[in-house]
Amino acid sequence: MTTLADPVPGGRPGDLRRVAALTAGLAARGVRGIVLAYVDTAGVGRVKTIPTARLEAAVSWGVGMSPVFDTFLADDSIVTTDVLGSPDGDLRLYPDLDQLVALAGQPGWAWAPVDRITQDGERHPGCTRTFLRRIVADAAERHGLAFKAAIEIEWAVGLGSAPAGEFAPAARGPAYGAIRQVELSDYTADLLAALAEQGVDVDQIHPEYAAGQFEVSVGALDPVAAADRSVLVRQTIRAVAQRHGLRVSFAPAVFAEGVGNGGHVHLSCWRDGVNLHAGGAGRYGMTAEAESFAAGVLARLPALTAVTAPSPASYLRLKPSQWAGVFTAWGRETREAALRMVTGTAGRRDQDANMEVKPVDLAANPYLALGCLIAAGLDGVTAGRPLPEEITGDPARFGGDEAAALGVRRLPTSLPQAVAEFRADEVLRTALGPVLADAVTAVRLGEAAAVEGLDDAQVAAAYRWTY
Ligand code: GLU
Ligand code: MG
Repeated sequence: MTTLADPVPGGRPGDLRRVAALTAGLAARGVRGIVLAYVDTAGVGRVKTIPTARLEAAVSWGVGMSPVFDTFLADDSIVTTDVLGSPDGDLRLYPDLDQLVALAGQPGWAWAPVDRITQDGERHPGCTRTFLRRIVADAAERHGLAFKAAIEIEWAVGLGSAPAGEFAPAARGPAYGAIRQVELSDYTADLLAALAEQGVDVDQIHPEYAAGQFEVSVGALDPVAAADRSVLVRQTIRAVAQRHGLRVSFAPAVFAEGVGNGGHVHLSCWRDGVNLHAGGAGRYGMTAEAESFAAGVLARLPALTAVTAPSPASYLRLKPSQWAGVFTAWGRETREAALRMVTGTAGRRDQDANMEVKPVDLAANPYLALGCLIAAGLDGVTAGRPLPEEITGDPARFGGDEAAALGVRRLPTSLPQAVAEFRADEVLRTALGPVLADAVTAVRLGEAAAVEGLDDAQVAAAYRWTY
């Protein structure tokens, strides 16, 4: 369980007790530097790195970094809000020692996610990891609820030798095919070894549908650790690929047409160690609370899309009948509904039952996405929101009247549409707080403006190597 305590100037007492031994252990393994990682509002991973010997100083007093990155766009230009985007000010990055790990795919380096606090020792309202910690802590305190989460990762593996900017698939075999598995056998074996060495428990890894595409799924953790893990796994996938002369893309749409890269979120609510998605009196064993949690997410999905599908390229992926789940509907194991209820196999349901949110991609900041999904679900629990009827099959087949009668809506088809939904959503805005909510709005509108006049192929190309 990730610590939910905020960093404090001078260092968290538990951290100070163990940092010297950790540093010595890393140095003995030849670790020279530590990557301090966070994800910006646009969904881009940003870092500072320090020599291993500076870990104690970083744990005690943080490492400086400007808050301006909260309003960076994916192309590194900068937008502003009332409080963010100015060249003034500084923040302190505090590594989370619980998540510190030597990087098997990058010998000489370790990695840790950071929380950002102000120079006065206060929470930085633009810190997305702090936001998710707060949402999880509040849920425990106010509702007695805990969560398990896992983020699936899909990525396209390309040849490192392809001309700049272009994607040339590194495997040509059929989707889900044995040929493709053989073609990238050495790479994926090294990747499994690196992930295992880093303590990441992989459920499965397989060739996916699109050209050169693979997917890895990992075990569920508490939400903050699950978001950290998503960042770490991508760092590892990229690093191992580079050592094999490969180049990877996590972009929602590597090309304008066809199936994209998803980042489906698996989420379950737990009370006192009991999974609320199994053993209840509701549909497929859901408890009333799990149904209302799912209903809360379903009701807010159009607004959530601004957080879970934050890139102009996200809307190239979010198309019907491409398994991205673009309709506000749920169904048991239905891969075209935005919410797929995973009941698990008989005998394992109390452990495995969860809901999968499909209209999420890997441009999404995982801390923002999980925090907003949980906030939406909790609002459903508080309101006792009823879960509508389930659907089966592809909702794309419904005519307008039928869809309306079933409450099935198409999710936003563009980033500006998603932003309009998000701006009208008081529950999400309140959960995020005004600073973060305004940053999300400004960054999304900035991304939309950045691609004005581009056609779909140009949008795909603009974001192909960004995430
Ligand atoms: N690649 C699909 C997506 O964009 C998902 C495929 C799957 O169901 O695993 O979400
Ligand atoms: Mg998949």
